[in-house]
Amino acid sequence: MKSLTDLTFDNRFARLGDAFSTAVLPEPIAEPQLVLVSQAALALLDLPPTAAEAEEFTQLFAGHKLWATAEPRAMVYSGHQFGSYNPRLGDGRGLLLGEVLNAAGEYWDLHLKGAGQTPYSRSGDGRAVLRSSIREFLASEALFALGIPSSRALCVTASSTPVWRERQESAAMLLRLAPSHVRFGHFEYFYYTKQPEQLQTLAAHVLACHFADCSEQAEPYGAMFTQVVERNAELIAYWQAYGFCHGVMNSDNMSILGITFDFGPYAFLDDFDAQHICNHSDDAGRYSFSNQVPIAHWNLSALAQALTPLVEVEALRASLGLFLPLYQAHYLSLMRQRLGLLGTDDSDQALVERLLQLMQGSAVDYSQFFRRLGEQPAEIALASLRDDFVDLAGFDQWAADYCNRATNTADSQAERRARMHAVNPLYVLRNYLAQQAIEAAEQGDYAPVRELHAVLSRPFEEQPGMQRYAERPPQWGKHLEISCSS
Ligand code: AMP
Ligand code: MG
Repeated sequence: MKSLTDLTFDNRFARLGDAFSTAVLPEPIAEPQLVLVSQAALALLDLPPTAAEAEEFTQLFAGHKLWATAEPRAMVYSGHQFGSYNPRLGDGRGLLLGEVLNAAGEYWDLHLKGAGQTPYSRSGDGRAVLRSSIREFLASEALFALGIPSSRALCVTASSTPVWRERQESAAMLLRLAPSHVRFGHFEYFYYTKQPEQLQTLAAHVLACHFADCSEQAEPYGAMFTQVVERNAELIAYWQAYGFCHGVMNSDNMSILGITFDFGPYAFLDDFDAQHICNHSDDAGRYSFSNQVPIAHWNLSALAQALTPLVEVEALRASLGLFLPLYQAHYLSLMRQRLGLLGTDDSDQALVERLLQLMQGSAVDYSQFFRRLGEQPAEIALASLRDDFVDLAGFDQWAADYCNRATNTADSQAERRARMHAVNPLYVLRNYLAQQAIEAAEQGDYAPVRELHAVLSRPFEEQPGMQRYAERPPQWGKHLEISCSS
């Protein structure tokens, strides 16, 4: 185990130079208090659980202190926001503090979000508010616990520094970890500003650091793009299978590593609704739940365009063509698991589609459906789940077909339950749970948000005394309005 002060930094991105990022120091926030810390994330840096108890910990993650070998940089990127190209984005309120090399030989970017203004802040104040920092922390760690690729969160620090949004709020900082903070938008920036050498340098950097196995291929960058497509197909399959709605799938919020990245007004579905729009500012529903699949493909096309100086167009087209079939295969495989179906059958896809059609417009809680389906033998579980469906005849037909298909499997109910519960979470980060915990934290009471984080870190295990976190939302909790700016 390391101590906090002797983390080993090796700042590979900073060394790419000023065309890629600008040196900026964090602007501290006043009277910092540690709100949340993830023990699992500490371990990624070889830090012991006690590391967070040191006074220095909060100082470091509130911008008051800095490691001597950190090199804080604001990265430049651009991207397509809601379909329109924005030529200059970049880290407007976050800094890449540096890259930590752990004992396992892994690199982790330390990114401090809410660290003050940078050359890319445009008219923004460079700050993040407490509620959005908590929301990103909870989602990062909850997705990780579900087995869904995501950036990670080390800690959230609150402060007395005032910031203005729709009302006065207080500034906070979030320490985000990821193997890379390179986004699709990084490539777009160098492509659209006509800097082919820098584009090449960026691609070589990403290839060497994150796609080393592609280096030996005949067309390394083409192979890298294919892997980006594959990873995104898998990621979006997870989102769709687990009811995760990202909310702001702009190409600057898409990680080159295919991990969930940049959390804004995200949501996990409560009642199933394919058309759900979780971002209150998304009037046209561009980023609605079911649109996430074509939008991911659209974003990959935007990335492909930026790679045209490095890869033949035909090769890029061929890789893009892999997205949908790969997505469908991953998705179907995840849904089979969620439904407890062993093996494969040609009718499985239709079985899943029919279920979702029946759920649509009914009052079926998406997460609870799968958990309850595994809790009891299929016939008994279905009889009680039936009450939530509007089209009862349709449901009965589906239930009969499901039972037919499921009885191919020879395992006992105990085995079936264990198998299904291992992939169907009991506890999901519902918006209303986050909201309640945030309201307490805004009053200075961090116990609820810490408890919520603890519960969500073991989402598949029933935890004594935590039943309330497994409940369906109250009516008010289904219609919370969450938008981008925070
Ligand atoms: P986001 O919606 O968080 O993905 O941010 C989009 C762009 O706006 C990024 O370039 C951010 O760095 C920038 N941005 C968002 N909020 C602020 C803020 N409060 N101050 C400065 N820049 C911001
Ligand atoms: Mg962003």
